[in-house]
Amino acid sequence: MTLPIGNLPDTRYPDPRIEPLDPRFVYKQGNAAIERIATGFRWAEGPVWFGDHGCLIFSDIPNNRMMRWQESDGHLSVFRAPSNYTNGNTRDRQGRLISCEHDSRRVTRTELDGSVTVLIDRFGGRPLNAPNDVAVASDGAVWFTDPGYGIDGPYEGHAAPAELPRNVYRLDPGTGVASVVADDFVRPNGIGFSPDERKIYIVDSGISHGGPAHIRVFDVDGAVLRNGRVFADDFLPGMTDGLRCDVDGNVWCSMGWGDPAEDGVRCYAPNGDLIGKIHLPEGCANLCFGGRKKDRLFMCASTSVYALYVNGKGAGP
Ligand code: MG
Repeated sequence: MTLPIGNLPDTRYPDPRIEPLDPRFVYKQGNAAIERIATGFRWAEGPVWFGDHGCLIFSDIPNNRMMRWQESDGHLSVFRAPSNYTNGNTRDRQGRLISCEHDSRRVTRTELDGSVTVLIDRFGGRPLNAPNDVAVASDGAVWFTDPGYGIDGPYEGHAAPAELPRNVYRLDPGTGVASVVADDFVRPNGIGFSPDERKIYIVDSGISHGGPAHIRVFDVDGAVLRNGRVFADDFLPGMTDGLRCDVDGNVWCSMGWGDPAEDGVRCYAPNGDLIGKIHLPEGCANLCFGGRKKDRLFMCASTSVYALYVNGKGAGP
């Protein structure tokens, strides 16, 4: 019997939607393809892997909810609703969920018993704009960006004037007190450490407001950043939003808002060379590594979440 073409799966090994540009690109799986593991969201963001629960948690910002996708059986359920229009998520070294909430304009920690602790909602007596993305260092310091997309209008939070510059902050693990670590971004966005935490990568998605579309990298010197320089700036007319590093120091970042042929994920070597692309049918906002071996890349792309096994592992929690 011959099946009609329309019934054949849209999968071929090796997946032609993966584009190696350099031998350093760690995607070498001949028999793995991009999978759409969940769909039906308005704007998927903020993925974080919970290995102890075998699940991915991510945000669906305009729907004011967070979702949970169970790896064992693909079951999808609501993790938290309302979520205060939560955007970026990560975990600290104690396994606690750290979230950037747009509507409530704060960064929170979900304790192991489920209760929520507010880590910060004001700086210098003024409300934060709308925290976007977050990374936790191994010393417990919480580094986050505050561009304020969540107060631009009602879709991802609520309209309000920005009362603070669009800063990058660090919450001290001992005192809990925040300090500004970068104040010259137009719209600071995705943030992530190199595997050794000696460098931190921060996206400026300011193109949406007359600024740049690039990734900057800084040397981490204790509680301060030094030697900021542009790491990658070849995104126009699109831009990147979120990023994560793998254990080899490669920087994986989202791609969208420009040429549809460039939608998906990019991988940059530690020296800034673009070494590979993953093409998705939707613009991508953010990503993380997960799976039992931390070798599965999860990509939040507009209305769907995609996954791909790679020949590498995610760094950090
Ligand atoms: Mg973001």
